[in-house]
Amino acid sequence: MSRALIIGAGGVAGVVIHKCCQNSEVFTDICIASRTKSKCDKFKEELQGKTKTNITTAQVNADNVPELVALMKEYKPDICINVALPYQDLHIMDACLECKVDYLDTANYEPEDTAKFEYSWQWAYRERFEKAGITAVLGSGFDPGVTGVFCAYAQKHYFDEINYIDILDCNGGDHGYPFATNCNPEINIREVSAKGSYIQDGKWVETEPMEIKRVYNFDQVGEKDMYLLHHEELESLALNIKGIKRIRFFMTFGQSYLTHLKCLENVGMTSIEPIMYEGKEIVPLQFLKAVLPDPASLGPRTKGKTNIGCIFQGKKDGKDKTYYVYNVCDHQECYKEVGSQAISYTTGVPAMIGAMMVLTGKWKKPGVYNVDEFDPDPFMEALNKWGLPWTENFDPVLVD
Ligand code: NDP
Repeated sequence: MSRALIIGAGGVAGVVIHKCCQNSEVFTDICIASRTKSKCDKFKEELQGKTKTNITTAQVNADNVPELVALMKEYKPDICINVALPYQDLHIMDACLECKVDYLDTANYEPEDTAKFEYSWQWAYRERFEKAGITAVLGSGFDPGVTGVFCAYAQKHYFDEINYIDILDCNGGDHGYPFATNCNPEINIREVSAKGSYIQDGKWVETEPMEIKRVYNFDQVGEKDMYLLHHEELESLALNIKGIKRIRFFMTFGQSYLTHLKCLENVGMTSIEPIMYEGKEIVPLQFLKAVLPDPASLGPRTKGKTNIGCIFQGKKDGKDKTYYVYNVCDHQECYKEVGSQAISYTTGVPAMIGAMMVLTGKWKKPGVYNVDEFDPDPFMEALNKWGLPWTENFDPVLVD
């Protein structure tokens, strides 16, 4: 018997909700709470009667801590799954502390007025969560999320020391639009237009946006251009993986996406600095979000596959060793199963699994942790069971 409060009713939340309802032995009760209650009610209407999970809905502004506290006191959840936006992370953590509710999210905190994301703000809650006896699991999506679990798994089973990690995130899907983003456009554009960076010998090395490009031939997708980005899991992996010398993160982008992005940047449409327009203050990037296709609407039209995984180089029993572990996910199959494309699917499934790990006691540990700090084995097993099976390759092509 456990009760989960799911905050947010967007693309990722939709998958979390479907997956909790498939897993009603663990998730006996869920409350879907978001800014726009009608979106929560729509999920309830769609799923009620098809699942044993009891579904309730609520309206909440997750930027308002007293509102969150009132909801938690009334609903009494065992865990709060935060799949709203990164701006809400700290408010939701504050409410969880006050109500002694376990916490899980899929993206680290980012202040709305600065495109800067890092774990320091959330790691600062560690002692307070420990004292309150509650668990916070940070970054339980795919990347961050499964990628961190892959690293913990490689470290536990295959290596004495891991020296190099390359995380490769390939989306071979095609939605047929010249330009659209597969997840929240504001969050996506803030991420990809930022400077790139990677970790080398314990230090961050900064690059210009999209400065480092490589080509990789992905299983079941084919050859794609990929670019080095800054990514949040690098920060925790650098601390938790033994012997690490370099960690890089690459994401694939098509030429059309990059050309459109450059043009939008050049005319100022990706800026987060407010401007005055006809007497009203607007943020250009938020206006751009309003005119772009809603990522949730891409589900029916996206065809192709994603392939996301990690390549490791290190040592085992004094010998050099390489290992690649990845998941391939098909956009259309996700749509058939839960009505979403693979980007939301690959994020929502690990969020449900992470919550299940806490609720079943496997990852229950008072404090604030990244996924790579827990035992990876039950999570890896659950990935195979709940829709994200993984493949291993012990002789992969490396990225130069
Ligand atoms: P969406 O924009 O589709 O959904 C966000 C939801 O949060 C919306 O329902 C929105 O409400 C709600 N929301 C926003 N602000 C508030 C607020 N103040 N109070 C209550 N609800 C609010 O985003 P996604 O589903 O694509 O992304 C969800 C999260 O997942 C993000 O944090 C994103 O960064 C993360 N993510 C993580 C990935 C990973 O692999 N780790 C990959 C992709 C995404 P409304 O409907 O009213 O707008």
